[in-house]
Amino acid sequence: MTTNTNGKKVALVTGASRGIGAAIAERLGRDGHTVIINYAGSATAAEAVAAKIEAAGGRALTVQADVADADAVKTMFDRVEAAFGGVDILVNNAGIMTLGTIADMADDAFGKLMDVNLRGTFNTLREAAQRLREGGRVINFSSSIVGLYPPTYGVYAATKAAVEALTVVMAREMRGRSITVNAIAPGPTATELFLNGKPQEVVDRLAKQAPLERLGQPEDIAAAVAFLAGPDGAWINGQVLRANGGII
Ligand code: NDP
Repeated sequence: MTTNTNGKKVALVTGASRGIGAAIAERLGRDGHTVIINYAGSATAAEAVAAKIEAAGGRALTVQADVADADAVKTMFDRVEAAFGGVDILVNNAGIMTLGTIADMADDAFGKLMDVNLRGTFNTLREAAQRLREGGRVINFSSSIVGLYPPTYGVYAATKAAVEALTVVMAREMRGRSITVNAIAPGPTATELFLNGKPQEVVDRLAKQAPLERLGQPEDIAAAVAFLAGPDGAWINGQVLRANGGII
C-alpha cells in the first residue's frame, strides 16, 4: 500500500467522535496509521479521541465536516492532503438512525437519513474515487438490518442497502488501482445510536438474539475494520462483512 512520507498510512474515519467511529480511530491509531477524526458537532469528544491516540504514541488530527455537505467534504480531503500528503484508507462510519413505519415517516426525517447515510457516504466516496492513493482501502458502513428488515427500519435500511450497492460498484470502478472497497454490516452494537430511546427490556431482548447472546461492542466492529484496512484483508474486495455475533 502506498504510504505517506513517514511510512505510515493515512486513515480518514468519518463520525469518529463517538461510538463505533471512535473505537475505529483508536484501533487504527494503535495499528500505526495516522488517523483523521472527522465529526459533525462533538468537537470536545473528537479532541479527546485524538488525545488518546497521541498519548498511545500515535498521530491524529480532528476535522469538522458534515458529510452531507459536499463542499465541506471536499475541503476536508484538501486539509488532509495538505497535512499528510494524501489519504490511503477511508472509513465511512458516520451515520444516523431514525425509526418509524413507512406510513408514519415524516419528510424531514426521510431527508435527513438520506442526506447523512447515503449522500454523506456518496460525498466521501466521490472524493476518494478521485484522490485515494494506489493500494488504498475503503470501508463503508451498512447494517445487519439489511437482511433482517424488521418493521420501522424501512428508510434506515434503504439508506444502508444503497450503501451496499455503492460498495460493489465502486470496487469495480477502482480496477487497476489496487484499491479495495468493502462494507461492514454491524448488528446491534452498544452505542448511543442503538441504545437511545430503547427500554432496557428491548435492549436485553435484542442482545439475546445473536447466538453469542450479547450486544456487539464498538471494539468488535473496529477489529473487523482493522482486518479490512490491514494486510490480512488485502484479498477481500467488493464484499459486505456482517459483524453481528451470528444474528443473521
Ligand atoms: P453514534 O450515534 O454513536 O455515533 C455517530 C457518529 O457519527 C458521531 O461521531 C457523529 O458525530 C457522527 N455523525 C453523525 N452525523 C454526521 C454528519 N452529518 N457528518 C459527520 N459525522 C456525523 O453511532 P454508531 O457509532 O452506533 O454508528 C456508527 C455507524 O455504524 C453508523 O453508520 C451506523 O448506521 C452503523 N451501525 C450501527 C449499529 C449499532 O447498533 N450501533 C448497527 C449497524 C450499523 P458528532 O458526535 O459530531 O455528532
